[in-house]
Amino acid sequence: MVSFEAESSTAPLELLARVEFMCVVLHGAILGVLRRKRVRGFSARVVLTGDIVATVRRLRPPAEEDSRMFTTERLGGTVMGKILPSTADGSSFTIILSDAVWLEDNAEATAHGASIIAHELGHCVVESCRRASGYTPSMTDLTMGESVAREIAGDALEEYRVGQIENAVLGAVGTSGKGDDAVPLALHHLYGDDYVHALDEILTGVVYPGWPDRVQTYRDWKISMEDMWEGLARSAWEASVLIAHAAAVALSADEPDPITEGEFADAPAVSLYLGEPWECIRDIADSVSVLCTPAASAKMEERVYTEGVDAVLAMFGELGLRFTLLPGGRHHLAVTAPARLRDDHS
Ligand SMILES: [Zn+2]
Repeated sequence: MVSFEAESSTAPLELLARVEFMCVVLHGAILGVLRRKRVRGFSARVVLTGDIVATVRRLRPPAEEDSRMFTTERLGGTVMGKILPSTADGSSFTIILSDAVWLEDNAEATAHGASIIAHELGHCVVESCRRASGYTPSMTDLTMGESVAREIAGDALEEYRVGQIENAVLGAVGTSGKGDDAVPLALHHLYGDDYVHALDEILTGVVYPGWPDRVQTYRDWKISMEDMWEGLARSAWEASVLIAHAAAVALSADEPDPITEGEFADAPAVSLYLGEPWECIRDIADSVSVLCTPAASAKMEERVYTEGVDAVLAMFGELGLRFTLLPGGRHHLAVTAPARLRDDHS
């Protein structure tokens, strides 16, 4: 079941009806697939909003997620949707959607809007699966590095899986092209080269030499350890999520993964830091079908929380960062010179 409401939206009434209809169609498409996989369905409350930040902050349960403020700014894009789990057994979710993509009334805007709904429904599927499996990774006795590495590896895995669910749902309800040339609608029809451009910008504009420079700035006593680590952790998370999205888009076009074998495989940001963790996470994800049983999903997450987390920690090691937990629960971070290209003395 889908319930639908709008808040602080200046959108006309016929637009609301259009979005609501699309939510019902896509939710039905997902439930159809889940039923075939014998995974329980879920209901959703959709809130269409003119101000996604305000709506997320208002509706988010106080204990949910971390103390960081929710913002829509991300490396390589803006957040247009967000899910909030609303019941403890995972049977109902709140999906908050920005009305921004829906304000234009044409086929392209509709397809883009549908992809955002399909994406958020994909998160509901993964979360339903997680709850059905009963798997909860232990969160005690983690170093600062391990906590962040878990978020990075877990979210990169989830975004890659959700991208593929989104792609399957789009293909089930829409086509691209005309007449006999029409093919099932896929992520790459909507996003084209957008992610390639975003990756290019981030890998060369933010990650390298930005990351090692940031560590070095701390080693030169110009910023505090908190500033250095918090900025790096956030940037590593954003870059990893972007890589996962880009990989799902490339896969939808049967193109090679832009990081492991495609155009960025030799970029220093990839060969020095991001390549190995992503290859590890993607290999684990590709070894299981996207819509799998809850038990298989839990097993995949468990592997990512061990092997994937180790790979992310090794990446932080390349950046000169090593974390230990001292007796009494205090955190220690040892910082040495970050790895750079051999001929780069900056
Ligand atoms: Zn997502």
